[in-house]
Amino acid sequence: KFIVLEGPDGSGKTTQIARIETYLRERGADFISTREPGGVQVAEKIRSVILDVDNAMSGLTECLLYAAARREHLMQKVIPALEQGKIVICDRYVMSSLSYQGYGRELGEAVLDINKRAINVDGVEYWPSMNIYLDVTPEVGLQRIHAKHAGREINRLDLEAEDFHRRVREGYLKLMAEYEGQFTMIDASRNEEAVFADIKGVLEKLIF
Ligand code: ATP
Ligand code: C5P
Ligand code: MG
Repeated sequence: KFIVLEGPDGSGKTTQIARIETYLRERGADFISTREPGGVQVAEKIRSVILDVDNAMSGLTECLLYAAARREHLMQKVIPALEQGKIVICDRYVMSSLSYQGYGRELGEAVLDINKRAINVDGVEYWPSMNIYLDVTPEVGLQRIHAKHAGREINRLDLEAEDFHRRVREGYLKLMAEYEGQFTMIDASRNEEAVFADIKGVLEKLIF
């Protein structure tokens, strides 16, 4: 099983993955948890190039870098774990690119073409078993992120206008309709415990 946490900035993906790890450990599940962009050395290096505030780049360049990081992470880490029968929990995957680069940067269909190629390994396209989509408005998400900035370095994407984040969230909602069956939506504007209770329900059905 390949389970991905998706959602706008500040929706609580990373926070909830920490809870998922504790929960799966308690249940004795054989799993790894990882993140994108990153998760393996070369992809973490690509991540730092993408997020560096001093690195101006076109939307398409950004899209290609995310796709490059995705493919290496998939080949070096995700596929080997899946082949060992492990559950893979991943912070972001293809739907992030379709919403951020496709809708946020308005690159449209090119993003799907590039990503289909990036996730095709030996003729198989690796799509998640489930995308758990944590839904928040940009108002809620960005407020959480800004509160967080006290202890975190600002990255290039944090400098985007609220317009960008609005397109990203609307993009996710369109993708939910388009890829029905690959998504479970959770209202992530509630407190951490309430959000996790719903995630646990999804995991129970998928895994146990
Ligand atoms: P990003 O896309 O930027 O990585 P994220 O989706 O991973 O964001 P987190 O980093 O988990 O989001 O959370 C952002 C901030 O909001 C953190 O300071 C976190 O403690 C806080 N937070 C997470 N979940 C909730 C919640 N349900 N209610 C209030 N605050 C929350
Ligand atoms: O989720 P994470 O904190 O790892 O993402 C880092 C930054 O990259 C965030 O600001 C997010 O908005 C951005 N991002 C993006 N396009 C993606 C994935 C992440 O712009 N496909
Ligand atoms: Mg995060």
